[in-house]
Amino acid sequence: EIGELAKSMGYNAYLVGGIIRDIILGWENLDIDIVIEGDGIVFAKEFAKIKQAKVATHERFKTATLVMKDGMRIDIATAREEYYDLPGALPVVEKSSIKLDLYRRDFTINALAMKLHDEFGDLLDFFGGLNDIKNKKIRVLHMLSFVDDPTRMYRAVRFAARLGFDIGQQTDRLIKVAVELGIVNKVEKIRIFNEIVHILNNDNVKSSFEMLKSYRLIRTLDNKLIIDDRILSYIDEAEEIVKSCSIFCKNKKIKRERVFLILLEYLFGKSTSFSKAVGADDQTYEFVKNTSKKIPIANGILSKKNVNDLEIYEALSKIPLEGILALYPLTKEKERLIRYLEDLMHREPIIKGKDLIKLGFKPSKIFGQMINDIFKQQLLGKIKDKIEAIKYIEEN
Ligand code: ATP
Repeated sequence: EIGELAKSMGYNAYLVGGIIRDIILGWENLDIDIVIEGDGIVFAKEFAKIKQAKVATHERFKTATLVMKDGMRIDIATAREEYYDLPGALPVVEKSSIKLDLYRRDFTINALAMKLHDEFGDLLDFFGGLNDIKNKKIRVLHMLSFVDDPTRMYRAVRFAARLGFDIGQQTDRLIKVAVELGIVNKVEKIRIFNEIVHILNNDNVKSSFEMLKSYRLIRTLDNKLIIDDRILSYIDEAEEIVKSCSIFCKNKKIKRERVFLILLEYLFGKSTSFSKAVGADDQTYEFVKNTSKKIPIANGILSKKNVNDLEIYEALSKIPLEGILALYPLTKEKERLIRYLEDLMHREPIIKGKDLIKLGFKPSKIFGQMINDIFKQQLLGKIKDKIEAIKYIEEN
């Protein structure tokens, strides 16, 4: 339908980006990116009208986002050539053709397009992307790619780790030269940070960090950030517990990247702030810094001889879940920590306010205190059910 409408408007429409790569690889990808040769915004508005979809447009970038009635999102862009006034600056946008649009992309494997307007399904492969997918290679499209956008070095690492691809020989050399020249420091830090967050949100964080280490892509941000084997093994363990969290943590949601950020903040704590050095926004930085500060105390209590469940609960429930997961690689008491994640963290007071009212108590300020008292007895294993709880109330 997109193709038909485009054709009737005298435009060309292409499906582009990661989705083509993932279709070829047989991976799931729900990001639909369309490029229009013509006016992407006019097209998006027209398509939205026909499909009764919601549309948001961004005049400056000549892009639009559609949200279809079933909730599906479609991003529509205008084929464009971008040039950069300064390395790392925001691109200046001009209309042009699909080939130039694809040429500004990061890697050959992401620079494939599928025709939608004519000969539906025809693949455009100007830069050998198909072959690179077959040979499992991450390759940039031209020599100046990393100068145009240094964040692509971090993207190269992410795609290599995620897809299990190698970085092509020439591309490998270009990264090394770019790091040597200190090009990374010409980019707004937050853009680097966003790519690091992507890396932390993908699987294989450890192998990503091995690559970041070998290219010195972290150290180039701050000379004190030396990734060594000890740090890599902590990252590995953190990744393990983050994965298990999908089981342990039940309905509790985490921001996955923060687990690694807290861990690294703690590990580099004495010499520098990891999150600040890699460009974290203020909100993330504050969260990560404050949470990492709580780690030693929590670990102290967790490691105490004969510690009981109540003490564990009281120490750990004060810390955001991401911080507790970050503590996992650091603590010797892993079993206790898992016990907290599996069991203690999910405990709830047996007695609620409405139970107290049923028992004839008048709602009062001390309800909270009573409920809490009983909850403590529960954690100590002294109260196991409601009957025992009621008995406890009567006795006290
Ligand atoms: P993911 O599935 O992780 O979202 P993706 O390939 O869709 O992977 P995005 O970061 O969503 O990656 O980017 C979408 C597309 O936009 C990419 O396939 C790539 O062609 C292009 N792109 C994104 N960032 C850059 C960049 N910094 N430089 C050049 N092209 C980029």
